[in-house]
Amino acid sequence: MMGAIEMSPLHDWLVELRRGFHQSPELSYAEFGTSRRIAAKLREMGVDVQEGVGGTGIVARMDSGRPGPVVAFRADMDALPLEEISTEPYCSTVPGVMHACGHDAHITIGLGVARTLMDEGWPATGKGKVVLVFQPAEEGGAGALAMLRSGALDGEPIDAILAGHVHPELPVGHVGVVPGMCNAASDSVRIRITGKGGHGAQPHRCVDPILAGAALVTQLQSLVSRSISPIDSAVLTIGQFVAGTASNIIPQQAVLNGTLRTLRPEVRDVMAERIDGMVKGLELAYGVKVDLEMIPGYPLLVNDPIVAEMARNVASDFLGPDRVHIELPRMGAEDFAYFLQRYPGALLRLGCHKPEEGFRHALHSPHFDLDERVLDVGVGLFTRLIKRLMAEVRAQGPGTSLP
Ligand SMILES: [Zn+2]
Ligand SMILES: [Zn+2]
Repeated sequence: MMGAIEMSPLHDWLVELRRGFHQSPELSYAEFGTSRRIAAKLREMGVDVQEGVGGTGIVARMDSGRPGPVVAFRADMDALPLEEISTEPYCSTVPGVMHACGHDAHITIGLGVARTLMDEGWPATGKGKVVLVFQPAEEGGAGALAMLRSGALDGEPIDAILAGHVHPELPVGHVGVVPGMCNAASDSVRIRITGKGGHGAQPHRCVDPILAGAALVTQLQSLVSRSISPIDSAVLTIGQFVAGTASNIIPQQAVLNGTLRTLRPEVRDVMAERIDGMVKGLELAYGVKVDLEMIPGYPLLVNDPIVAEMARNVASDFLGPDRVHIELPRMGAEDFAYFLQRYPGALLRLGCHKPEEGFRHALHSPHFDLDERVLDVGVGLFTRLIKRLMAEVRAQGPGTSLP
């Protein structure tokens, strides 16, 4: 049984905000309305806002004006190209676009943290600076990298950066913390198989790229099981196989697109090498020509163990130790990894399914929805954690990096 979740005094405000964002989702790098609304809300609160960072990104600063630690919180803003299936009054009003990854909740939590700190008069009493980063294009567009490359954060000696992701596998009120490696590195695998097209009734006069492609898909699945140690992790999924125009034509080409996920660079290198070898073998065995391209995607996301431990303690105090779970890494990729390559920090998993319903719909499902109490949990947790980090860095002296 769940005990009561401590509701924020801002609950109704948070719910209204989140529903507003949910109804008006925008795709990667097109978060214009979302970004404008965030900036307006922050200005209402008296927060300093810098717009247009890395596209539609926003950097908001709550500066005490006194020297001290700099702690950042990142929220992603983009939605997905997906038609929402929902009977809720706050269902997406944009055809074919949906906040199916909960980034509407992340934005709302970021604004809730800002309002809580401003309402408490933090800038007048605190030391150092709190930086809020509202990021475009997490869903494949590397918005985090765009913001970092813009240079907007270069003047900020950020001591620690935090982020949360709603996590439907845990009930609301629960939090998952991963010390260290948290999300996989991802690579796109693009394979173009060229054969010789012709009549479907005369296969001996053709070179069939579909047959070669089908064999390749099957063979590739042996790599993880036979080339990677059972103790290591890797996933290779071919999610797209495009070939042919009619049932009686052997086409000229087949295109296979996939994704490779790994948790160690050494494993990634072995997989890349073995995929390449397999493709060369396919050319010999089937007489086709194969072009292989491996395009690096988001890097490995590694939480700082000290920040993760602090997050675990703060979450235990706030929610109760039985609601804080030390979790394993996942093979999903997250571009918060780019921030963590530059600054120590942690990505936390915020349980968001309704306890009475249990886990029903995953992220990226057209049915995905969340228990809105996750907004209260997120605001409470991150406000506490930011304060804790400020105090902790301060104890080590201003300008000292955390770990
Ligand atoms: Zn997503
Ligand atoms: Zn997401």
